Amino acid sequence: MQIKKLMIPAKVVALECLLRRLHESHPKYSEIEADYARFLKGYRGEKAVAYYLNFLPDKKFYLFHSLRLPSGKSHFQMDHLLLTTRFALILECKNFFGTLFFDDSFNQMIRIANEKEEGFQDPISQAKWHQQQLKSFFHSRNISLPTDYFVVISNPSTIVKTNPQNRQALKKVIHGHSLLDKIAEADRMFQTELFDPKEVRNLGKRLLKSHVEEEFDALEKYRLRKSEILTGVRCPQCERIPMIRKNRTWFCSECRTKDKNAHVSAVEDYFHLFGASITNKQFRDFVHLESEDTAKRLLKSLNLPTKGANKGRKYLKP
Ligand SMILES: [Zn+2]
Repeated sequence: MQIKKLMIPAKVVALECLLRRLHESHPKYSEIEADYARFLKGYRGEKAVAYYLNFLPDKKFYLFHSLRLPSGKSHFQMDHLLLTTRFALILECKNFFGTLFFDDSFNQMIRIANEKEEGFQDPISQAKWHQQQLKSFFHSRNISLPTDYFVVISNPSTIVKTNPQNRQALKKVIHGHSLLDKIAEADRMFQTELFDPKEVRNLGKRLLKSHVEEEFDALEKYRLRKSEILTGVRCPQCERIPMIRKNRTWFCSECRTKDKNAHVSAVEDYFHLFGASITNKQFRDFVHLESEDTAKRLLKSLNLPTKGANKGRKYLKP
């Protein structure tokens, strides 16, 4: 049963908005583009692994995607967590292409692709670290449940290698397509029923309550000023910014598209880049609109929750 569904991460969405609203000649553009591609690849890897998890029996497994729990002063995020009446299993997903070599002498992972060798943080150490943090999370809440982990390589064509004495990698690194067999193995290993179904449901609820969504401030991360962001309504057809307001609709002077609702995605962009609320004035500045009344009417039609009244009214991100 899916307790926490897999969603497109906020940072992927925010960077997508940012790339649409930054000049391609901006000095940070290629860095942001590379980060975006990396985050998106990670998400796609998680999605590929989630596909297999859909086949697990609903009543036996509670699934959490991207659960982020507190750990001391910081947090740790698990790509997937499986909870049962007998154990909890962490899945760390890695979406790499090429050949991966797990090197236990230096706890690193070497990727060989396109005749290039690159070193990465060892995903096994990373998964173990998450396991450690989950253990102490359980311990501090008097939850006694054994934990285990796997590193799941989501791309089926990735070749995984290690030296024959690296038993840890041989046991813990698996391909997506063998995930269900490995889960069945773990399921056989942990025999003792520690919770009844009602208790594990309650534990699931507690975990979900403890989840803290990651905040992602794209402007702060790349040290961008508000003035560097392109404002205006984007044409849904040719993507050009800005459209102009003409005869109660939005008009693109490039491809001559007319669209009554083109401001909707501009407001979404605003929320993703500038925060969780927008005022009438901020809206007018952002979509290049003069009339306060028109702005009010358009904002009202979005049916957003509001706070405050008159000029101080804020329209909130749903
Ligand atoms: Zn257009």
